Amino acid sequence: MNDIQTKTKIVATLGPSSSDYGTIKKLVESGVTMFRINTSHGTKQEHKEKIKFIRDIEKELNKNIPILIDLQGPKIRVGQIPEPIAIKKGEEVILEHTKEIRNGIIPVDYEGIANDVKIGEKILLDDGKIGLKVTKVCNNQVHTIVEHGSLIKPRKGINLPGAQASLEAVTSQDKEFIKFAIEEKVEYLALSFVRKAEDVKCARYYTKAYGDIAIPIIAKIEKPQAVENLEEIVLEADGIMVARGDLGIEMSPQEVPIAQKTIIEMTNKHKKPCIVATQMLESMLDEPIPTRAEASDVANAIYDGTDAVMLSGETAAGNYPVEAVKMMALISQTVENSRFLKTDYDVDLIEELNPISQAIASSAVNISKKLGAQGILIFTEKGYTPPIISKLKPSAPIIVVTSSQTTARRLNLYWGIFTYIDKNCNEVLDEALFNKIDDLLITRAGFKKGDDIVIVNSVPKLMTGTINTIRVHKIGENQ
Ligand code: PGA
Ligand code: MN
Repeated sequence: MNDIQTKTKIVATLGPSSSDYGTIKKLVESGVTMFRINTSHGTKQEHKEKIKFIRDIEKELNKNIPILIDLQGPKIRVGQIPEPIAIKKGEEVILEHTKEIRNGIIPVDYEGIANDVKIGEKILLDDGKIGLKVTKVCNNQVHTIVEHGSLIKPRKGINLPGAQASLEAVTSQDKEFIKFAIEEKVEYLALSFVRKAEDVKCARYYTKAYGDIAIPIIAKIEKPQAVENLEEIVLEADGIMVARGDLGIEMSPQEVPIAQKTIIEMTNKHKKPCIVATQMLESMLDEPIPTRAEASDVANAIYDGTDAVMLSGETAAGNYPVEAVKMMALISQTVENSRFLKTDYDVDLIEELNPISQAIASSAVNISKKLGAQGILIFTEKGYTPPIISKLKPSAPIIVVTSSQTTARRLNLYWGIFTYIDKNCNEVLDEALFNKIDDLLITRAGFKKGDDIVIVNSVPKLMTGTINTIRVHKIGENQ
C-alpha cells in the first residue's frame, strides 16, 4: 500500500457511529490521519476502549496515528428541567443559577451568570436557536426578552457572546481528562472556549502537574475574544482549531469566513498546526453525498492553507461515517491536484524559531521546486524542522524518518508530512542507509528508481543536533 495519500490531513471524531474496531479501521483505510475523542460525551471507559482499538489498528496497518483528546472547557448549560419550556418572541424569560426547579425560572449550571452579563447583551441557547436580550439583572436573576426561538430544552448549551465570562478556563472535569490523556499517552489535547493566552497557560499548569508539560495543547478558537487575542494565543498554544460551531454562534455568520482566513494565516505564520472544524459535511449525517456548498467549504479551507479538516457529528453520530471520510479525501486530492492551490512558498523568517532551520527549510523547498523533486526527506528526532518545511507547502511530499514514536504520530497532523519510525538511523548517511531509505520509499511510499529526493539532516549525527545539511539523492543511484 502507498502511504502517501492526501497531503491535507483528515481528523475524525469518534462516537456511537464509529466506536467498533471494524469501523475505526475502515475510517483509517479511507483516509483518517488523526482521531478526536470528545470528552463532552462518553465515559472514560468508553474512551479507553477506543484508544486501545486505535493503537491496535495502527499496528495492524503499520501507521502512526495521533489521538486528540478534546476537553469540553467552560461550557454553560441549561439545567435539568423536567420538560421543554415553550417561549414566544417578546416574552420575558428569567435565568438563574440554581438546581431547584421553579416555575418561571430557567435554571443555569453556571454560578457567575448574573455577574457576567450586562443589560442589552445577548444570550444564545441551543446553538443559537434561541436568542434572548438582557433587560435587568437583580437578586442573582437575569431577566431577558425573547428575540427569537420557541422551545427551551434541558441541558442545551448557552453562549454569552458579549460577556467576559469569569469562568475558570479549565473545569474540574477537564482536569480529570487532562490526567486521563497523560495516562493514556495521547498526542494532543484541545482546550475549548479559550479567551486569552493565559487560559492555555492554565491548562499547561495542569499538564505539568499531572506529569507531562510537553503534551501539545490545541487552542480552540470559538469566542470573539479569542479572535481579538489571536496572536498571543497562537504564540502560547501548540496548535489551533477553527471551531466554527461555537464561533459561528457567537459571531455573525458573515464574519466566520474572514475569521477562518485570519486564524489560518496567523497559525501558519507561527508554524503551528491548524484544524478547520465543524459542519464541513453536515448533510452527510443523513445522506451518502454532501451538498455542493459543503464540498466547496472543505476545498476552501484547504485553499486557505489549513493543515487538517475535521469531521464531528458526521463520523461520530452520522449514518455515513466512512463515506464522509472518503468524500473528504476525494475533495482534498482534487484540490491538491488543481492549479489553484498555492505551493512552494518562500516566507520571511520569524523570531521565535531557529533561523538556521528556517533558512535550510526554505532552501530545501526551493531546490525541490527547481528540480521538480518527488520528495523531501528529513531525519529528525524531536521533529523541530518538519513543521517549518510543511508550512512552505512544498508540492513534493515531506517524508520524515524519526526514532521517536511520539514525533512520528504528532507530525502526522501537519500538511504534507508522512512519517516513518526507524530507531537505527542516528548515524552517518552511508551507502547501507541510502539503500535502506530507497527501499522504504519504493515499497511503502510509491517512489520509483531515478526519483530525485532532497534530503535534509544534521551532520555529524543524522537526527540529533540542528539541521545543517541539504543533499540531493537519486533513488537507486548507489546500487
Ligand atoms: P465542539 O467544538 O464540537 O467541541 O463544540 C467545535 C466547534 O465548536 O466548532
Ligand atoms: Mn465548540
